[in-house]
Amino acid sequence: MADSTDMQCQPAGIRNCGPPEAGRSAEGAGFEPARELTPPTRFPGVRTRPDYAIPPRGHSVEAVNDLDFSTAMGRALAEAQSALEHGDVPVGAVLLDASGTTVAADHNRREEHDDPTAHAEMLVISRRARDLGDWRLTGHTLVVTLEPCPMCAGAAVWARLDRIVYGAPDPKAGGVWSLYNIPQDRRLNHRCEVVAGVREEECSSLLRDFFEGRRRGDADR
Ligand SMILES: [Zn+2]
Repeated sequence: MADSTDMQCQPAGIRNCGPPEAGRSAEGAGFEPARELTPPTRFPGVRTRPDYAIPPRGHSVEAVNDLDFSTAMGRALAEAQSALEHGDVPVGAVLLDASGTTVAADHNRREEHDDPTAHAEMLVISRRARDLGDWRLTGHTLVVTLEPCPMCAGAAVWARLDRIVYGAPDPKAGGVWSLYNIPQDRRLNHRCEVVAGVREEECSSLLRDFFEGRRRGDADR
C-alpha cells in the first residue's frame, strides 16, 4: 500500500463532502464514516485483496490477482480517444472476465446518443450482461480511464463486479473515492475491490487536453 500522503485521489475535502458521522442521527446509525474507509490500492501496488473485499463465489482469488491492469488500461485509453471523434469527453472502459480476457470495450457516448446514462462504464456493463444473458457479472473487472461517477459506481455494485480499476481521480464527481465511496459502502449487499492510479498521467492528460482545447475554442468564439 502506498503512503497515503501521496494519494491524489484522497482529497482534503473528503470529510466535508462525505456522509454524516456514524451515530449522529437515526439515519446515520451504522454508516461508515469516509475517513475509516480503506483508500483504493495504488498502482503499481498491492496485488492482494484488502480486508474489506468479499471473496466472490465461483472462482479463486489468486486467479485474478495477476490481471494485467496496465494493458487493459491501454485498451481503455484507445477507446477514450474514439470518444473525441464525436465530441464526447474522452473516457474509455473495458470489462475483463475472471481470466483477464477483454469481453467488452466502449467509450463515453453521452453527446453522440443524447443520453445522460451513456457513460463508458454503463455501456460495457450492459453489453456484457446482454451477451451473457445474465445481469450478475460476478468475477468481472471494470477498467476505466476516469474514476467512475456515482451512477457508474452504483451500476458496478448492482452488477456484482469484483473490481473497479481506474486511472485518473475525479475530484468533482468521483463516486468511488473522491466524493463518495459507493463500491465499499457497507450498507449495500455487495462491495468491489478498488485499484486507483493505473496509467494515471496518460488518463489525466487526455482529459486535460480535451478541456483545455474546449476552453480555447470557447475563447475564440
Ligand atoms: Zn459515470
